[in-house]
Amino acid sequence: MAAINEDFEKAPSPGVGGEIDTSGLSLSLSVEDLTEHQWVYVYDPKTGDRSLANKSMLKALLKHGFVTKKPLVEPFKGRFMCFLHKDGSFRAHYDAIGLPVCNKANIPSLYQLNLHMSRKHKMELATIETEKKELEDKKKEERDTILQEALLNSVRASGRPGGGGEVKETPPQAPAPAAAVISHRGKRGRKTKNG
Ligand SMILES: [Zn+2]
Repeated sequence: MAAINEDFEKAPSPGVGGEIDTSGLSLSLSVEDLTEHQWVYVYDPKTGDRSLANKSMLKALLKHGFVTKKPLVEPFKGRFMCFLHKDGSFRAHYDAIGLPVCNKANIPSLYQLNLHMSRKHKMELATIETEKKELEDKKKEERDTILQEALLNSVRASGRPGGGGEVKETPPQAPAPAAAVISHRGKRGRKTKNG
């Protein structure tokens, strides 16, 4: 119990007069009690979250497992930042197309990131999504082209097994062999000319 006395971090008073939210405090607390030294920081030892507490509530809070010394664990700050954050991967591009900067960087989940985007940056989100779709369409087109070329190349290559790496632009159904046959037969007789 003695630890409660001085082993705490002094916290500034959240304010004086009518602005104080006393809803969570003991009703017996008068305005005079709410002086600077009455307020301390308490920490959740599991999460490291810091809260402001009145000294009169300290005993109860300590009973509930709060501690007055800053624990080693850092409070969870969230892993996602807004698409429009100044450190975002596409910031230079967003600057170029006039999208604003948003400083939010403590978004805990992807779901909440989407929520934040659709609530706070509706127009910007639409812009980003339109661009994304255009980019995907372009990529798909490129993929299709590559696939088509690969197919064509394999058709050409199959026409001459063991051929070198060079691929000529002549179509696979080159008439040369047929012509050779005709001329060969032609030497023998006229029969084949009609057939
Ligand atoms: Zn934002």
